[in-house]
Amino acid sequence: MSTELFNVADIFGENVFNDTVMQERLPKKVYKNLKNTIEEGKELDLETADVIAHEMKEWAIEKGATHYTHWFLPLTGVTAEKHDSFISAPLPSGKILMSFSGKELIKGEPDASSFPSGGLRATFEARGYTAWDCTSPAFVRQDAAGATLCIPTAFCSYTGEALDQKTPLLRSMEAINTQALRLLRLFGNTTSKKVTPSVGAEQEYFLVDAKKFLERKDLIYTGRTLFGAMPPKGQELDDHYFGTIRQRIASFMRDVNIELWKVGVSSKTQHNEVAPAQHELAPIYTEANIAVDHNQIVMQTLKRIASQHGMKCLLHEKPFAGVNGSGKHNNWSLITDDGINMLDPGKTPHENIQFLLILTCILKAVNKHADLLRESAADPGNDHRLGANEAPPAIISVFLGEQLEDVIEQLISTGEATHSLKGGKLETGVRTLPELMKDATDRNRTSPFAFTGNKFEFRMVGSRDSIASSNIVLNTIAAEAFSDACDVLENAEDFQLAVHDLIKKYATENQRIIFNGDGYSEAWVEEAKRRGLHNIRSMVEAIPAMVSDKAVSLFEKFGVFTKAELESRAEIQYESYAKAINIEARTMIDMARKQFIPAVMKYTKELADTVNTVTAAGADASVQSSCLKEVSELLKETKSALDVLEKVTREASQKGEGPEEAKFFYYEVVPAMENLRTPVDKLEMIVDKEAWPMPSYGDLLFEV
Ligand code: ADP
Ligand code: MG
Repeated sequence: MSTELFNVADIFGENVFNDTVMQERLPKKVYKNLKNTIEEGKELDLETADVIAHEMKEWAIEKGATHYTHWFLPLTGVTAEKHDSFISAPLPSGKILMSFSGKELIKGEPDASSFPSGGLRATFEARGYTAWDCTSPAFVRQDAAGATLCIPTAFCSYTGEALDQKTPLLRSMEAINTQALRLLRLFGNTTSKKVTPSVGAEQEYFLVDAKKFLERKDLIYTGRTLFGAMPPKGQELDDHYFGTIRQRIASFMRDVNIELWKVGVSSKTQHNEVAPAQHELAPIYTEANIAVDHNQIVMQTLKRIASQHGMKCLLHEKPFAGVNGSGKHNNWSLITDDGINMLDPGKTPHENIQFLLILTCILKAVNKHADLLRESAADPGNDHRLGANEAPPAIISVFLGEQLEDVIEQLISTGEATHSLKGGKLETGVRTLPELMKDATDRNRTSPFAFTGNKFEFRMVGSRDSIASSNIVLNTIAAEAFSDACDVLENAEDFQLAVHDLIKKYATENQRIIFNGDGYSEAWVEEAKRRGLHNIRSMVEAIPAMVSDKAVSLFEKFGVFTKAELESRAEIQYESYAKAINIEARTMIDMARKQFIPAVMKYTKELADTVNTVTAAGADASVQSSCLKEVSELLKETKSALDVLEKVTREASQKGEGPEEAKFFYYEVVPAMENLRTPVDKLEMIVDKEAWPMPSYGDLLFEV
């Protein structure tokens, strides 16, 4: 916990093996070779890799590093790393040398058998390889383990199947690059060489006191509370959102920022969120694959620094029932190497034909593949948010804002857009305030997929989930739509006419996906149903979208996933859902059996003793005895709900792995969990606080 003042520019990226460091330390030729690999995907020869590895090692050792790790994103959702020290076998003199070869840099062979592969490795080879992703810079992480050189890598099977998130992400980035360039060329752009999806992920999280956290088995084992009654005060006052950040939290945020800046994560915005104890952190956007890695670093750093400050960071999507949950807003746009944002409409979008084509292509992509986008945000925690009366709804729709919606309407009704609505001035009525121009693209917080100025914001991603899946889907569905458009336009006799027709066609055919109203309302659910939009309420119902014929042909066409890879991923999704619910159910059983029931039994005895003593003393004990009756009834209810939960959880363990098991957990075990929670939460409201065996919601949320 440092309090000294510093200059951000001095520390930013100090632990990153970035372009400046490489330019300084690598021989010119080696640097050029590496740049070619990074920018154009040229293969790196071992000789060059050896030189880079040596310099990287020297640099890392100067930063105090003793170990290196191939850092990767397996399908468990958490980053994996295996640490090797730089030391080589002792010399005859007894001394050791520090070594790190090109081979060690570019390839690793972790014992991969315990990472989920969805059957992929079983059918091919039991080995897995990590391969250096030189497009995401290596960095030195400092923590309790000392300093470690972290090398971002992709993780594949012996035969090249992706066992991670990074590989398909990189493939999808290539797909969108190719198709977006094709489209730009049609509009006469001959200068841009590369199009990269740019991503900025806003991260929400909760902070709770570490001591209280440790008194709750549910938080320890599952990351969320499985029981808990609402405190007298919730978030109804909206006094936390953007509120003044308390000193303990401020000091935490400061340390988080320092750590992030050092490893090159451009942490930019921080504020309190809607719920008490909830906060948000947003970095400045960057290339999609780096943004994915950075988001993992952000999550790890939040957890690590929280512990150092005597707190725990909860990344779960729904740590507290009845309180706002957490997610990630995935801001996405397409930017060329020469700085053109393809999603920038300019001041007069109606005249910007290229933009209108891109926009309508994206409408088409989202309309066609809404189920895939929804699936990309599915994780067990998100079931408590999406479709459960919380932001955002489970129905995918696109929010365009007044200005663009008007342009699209003009296109659909007359085939021609002739004007763009203007934002106008913001009237504050105070002369001394500067005149502000109102945005013509207003905000709608309830939309899961919103156009916000010059980017789309996909707001469904869970707070604990990697943002990789969503970006893989976004990149690929956009690539498909661009490719379809190019197929038509490249063969058109009259390009101008063909573009106009295509924009009108896409706008007309896909208008059902546009929705600018209140996404939380019951009316929208009805309306969406009339429009034939998907309303996929759970992870279990979302997974099949991954392996539909539509999905397989999409991903195979652009070389992002093979059918086998998709099937393995679906299998892993089912498995991880079943595992997550199984742990939750068993934790509930444990807590009910060993903590709540014994505590309440003790309490009923106290009440019974009181009734006897008071009655013996000749006084009226009717209040005490009615209280005793109420508590005893609820205790009985608890016990029978517990019996049912135990029974269905046992039954679940007898199901074979796969969809059947996952569905059993969703349709049988989850409701049984809810039925156990209800009487326990009621008991918490009436049992003496002293007798309750763990901290309450009030303790956790308001006493950080
Ligand atoms: P908010 O949505 O909370 O109003 P901002 O719009 O300022 O916040 O930005 C949220 C996130 O979007 C930040 O991470 C920011 O860097 C990112 N962002 C801004 N512009 C783009 C863009 N063109 N492409 C991708 N992400 C962007
Ligand atoms: Mg946002």
